[in-house]
Amino acid sequence: MTRLHNLVGVPAGKTLAEVLPAFAGVTNEVHVGQPATECAACRKPFNAVRKRRKSVRLFPAALCQIVPVALQYGLCGRCFAQYQRGGADREAVLVAIDAYSDGVEATQ
Ligand SMILES: [Zn+2]
Repeated sequence: MTRLHNLVGVPAGKTLAEVLPAFAGVTNEVHVGQPATECAACRKPFNAVRKRRKSVRLFPAALCQIVPVALQYGLCGRCFAQYQRGGADREAVLVAIDAYSDGVEATQ
């Protein structure tokens, strides 16, 4: 099956530092910028009804060879539920997050 995104999960049983050695020994983190105000999958703004339900972190593999960096985004409840259904539903959320992270314009 051809994947439509470039996201790879940390393999089960492995730690992030085993996959990306730059993270070995990292115990503190510094947040830069403000939390995202919109869902990284559906791109709708968070508000009183559509709340941030889950955070996702992407670790740019090439950059993480040098310095441990993570990009953190938020997901609304609807998109997180879609992710949890797995299969094609999960893949669709991952495609949307990957495009969001790359700064691709939404077509919807
Ligand atoms: Zn959403």
